[in-house]
Amino acid sequence: MRIDQATPEQLREWEAQLSKDYDAIVGKKLSLDVTRGKPSADQLSLSDELDGILAGNYIAESGVDTRNYGGIDGIPEAKRLGSDLMGVPADNILVGGNASLTLMHQTMLAAYQFGLTGTSSAWKNVDSPKVICPVPGYDRHFTVCEQLGIEMITAPMTADGPDMDAVEALIKADPNIRGMWCVPKYSNPTGVVYSDATVERIAKLGLIAHEDFRVFWDNAYAVHDLNDNPQQLASVFDLCAKHGTDNTVIQFASTSKITHAGAGVAFTAASSANLTGLKAFLGACTIGPDKVNQLRHARFLPNRDALMSHMKKHAELLQPRFDAVLSALQEAFGDSDLGSWEEPAGGYFVSFDTRPGCARETVRLAAEAGVKLTPAGATFPYGKDPEDRNIRIAPSVPAVEEVVGAMEVFVVCVKLASVRQALA
Ligand code: PLP
Repeated sequence: MRIDQATPEQLREWEAQLSKDYDAIVGKKLSLDVTRGKPSADQLSLSDELDGILAGNYIAESGVDTRNYGGIDGIPEAKRLGSDLMGVPADNILVGGNASLTLMHQTMLAAYQFGLTGTSSAWKNVDSPKVICPVPGYDRHFTVCEQLGIEMITAPMTADGPDMDAVEALIKADPNIRGMWCVPKYSNPTGVVYSDATVERIAKLGLIAHEDFRVFWDNAYAVHDLNDNPQQLASVFDLCAKHGTDNTVIQFASTSKITHAGAGVAFTAASSANLTGLKAFLGACTIGPDKVNQLRHARFLPNRDALMSHMKKHAELLQPRFDAVLSALQEAFGDSDLGSWEEPAGGYFVSFDTRPGCARETVRLAAEAGVKLTPAGATFPYGKDPEDRNIRIAPSVPAVEEVVGAMEVFVVCVKLASVRQALA
């Protein structure tokens, strides 16, 4: 189906047929949900061994009793797990509680309110500090900025990561830019892995940006590959060291989509100067994180091999769901001008761009046909997708047959919204 080449007569015929198909689907009274980027119950069960793994032995290798207070930056074996996950030396890792989002929020709050390297570095000292948000992106990053009153400026995502010409131009043009969000591997939602050249340009931003500028490198999907030969993400830590910009990038990750999403362990990796600033802030919030859970995780995933073989089990459960989404898109839109998408080799999402102006209507039609999609606009700051194109599909939770069913509906809704728009 090619809308741009269709005659008005053809469009009317398509509309009539698609309306019939749509009404038939509505009649089925489906109830399907592809909104949630979270692990399925089967995935969670892969880590049930965590329960009881300590068998009464609460003592960390340092001799610390993990049941007690203290240890603001985590126990050594949990730092090693963070190192296995993030590819950063254990000395540069702080281990937190159950959510990397909390660490990101606290780090941005500390940078804004108190400064990571002394009070003069606080972002609030500037009239209107701004943060660059590659779009489409992760809605919860945007919520953090919105809550702190930090203005967001968008830069487009490409198949190689953020459009770095745009990012560098923004930084050169505006001295009040203080930060940037990045999801460098299997980006939420487009699924792309940043290219080596992009990672190096990000590492070099510290050479052109204000000294208090920080990249929030949210590597939530660092080991979440669907196949055995994944595209490697260049080490931003090493590249920052090479360019003398160690303070520029602060990394985050967690075991949320490795073990139990609500009861995992989160990590920050950063220069010692950034860690000092963050710890000063955290020390006022807590006497220490949940070290018992840290120890449980370190015993469950004692080395990189254990981590990677555990992730293979996740991939086996996720792959058929991604295949169902991607084959439906290819079959319906492979030879059309109705939409575009990336083919992620990992992570939790497939991102689909409709023709401009069709995303909201597609989501509405799907909802009325019993298929819940993430609200259109959610992948943009302030919920505003200026072209009304992007839709995020999250296939991890429903069973494969349900994903197939949801995609049948999705395809009809995209087509119907597109044809009706062309006729309007
Ligand atoms: N970062 C990204 C990019 C995510 O997609 C998610 C969850 O969907 C998170 C962070 C949340 O991580 P955590 O559970 O560690 O807070």
